[in-house]
Amino acid sequence: MIALRVIARNDAVKRRHPLGKTLRGSHQLLLNDIKPHPDANTRSGVLSEGHWPNATVPYELDPDFTLEQQVMILANFYTIESNTCVKFVERSNETDYVFVLRGVTGECNSYVGKIGGAQTLTLSVNLTEDEWSCFKNQIILHETLHALGFEHEQNRYDRDDYITLNWDNIPCDSRWNFEKEDFNSTTTFDLPYDYVSVMHYSNNVGGIDPDVPVLIPKPNYGFQIGNEGLGVLDVLRINRMYNCSSPYS
Ligand SMILES: [Zn+2]
Repeated sequence: MIALRVIARNDAVKRRHPLGKTLRGSHQLLLNDIKPHPDANTRSGVLSEGHWPNATVPYELDPDFTLEQQVMILANFYTIESNTCVKFVERSNETDYVFVLRGVTGECNSYVGKIGGAQTLTLSVNLTEDEWSCFKNQIILHETLHALGFEHEQNRYDRDDYITLNWDNIPCDSRWNFEKEDFNSTTTFDLPYDYVSVMHYSNNVGGIDPDVPVLIPKPNYGFQIGNEGLGVLDVLRINRMYNCSSPYS
């Protein structure tokens, strides 16, 4: 069960961040939102050992989050709990856990899967109106699914059957975000390609020209991809990854 601890906020830190203009609209997710695994040779992909034992994720919330922000994080944990067998429990003395860090530089990011020890999931808050905030259900769910062990849907090894990448519109230093996963170390859980996964980037994400698509669905060019909430196939994927005995597995 999720427990909410009310903690005083320390709002003494006020800094501007340089990435506030990275996103446009409500249907966008951040590029570069996967933290590199500390051991690059031990990638925590969907088939590896990076799953949380007993489908239970111990967590701590940064005490600098406001009560409202804590409630929003826990509400998104509950969205996952109520649809799957995954549980989020407030950490007592567990060694491996997620520390949800209050960021102030515009970052929203997470490691993929359990990496061992304390691992941060960073959610930045907006301290001024023109700064970026991660406090959108879409982003909190997305980063939490990374922590559970999920990669981006558009990086599935079979994605070329479903989308075309417009490489000309992707900055060179962002192209690594769109590399396909390895067939031998990841699985699709025998589920269809999911254009409306909360783990799928939107059509124009990170484009050099923001009005030109980066990801083009096949065969319907104009179909809007991505999702602001947890989709049906997202739920199925979680249940299959964590072997939930659920009607949705
Ligand atoms: Zn991501």
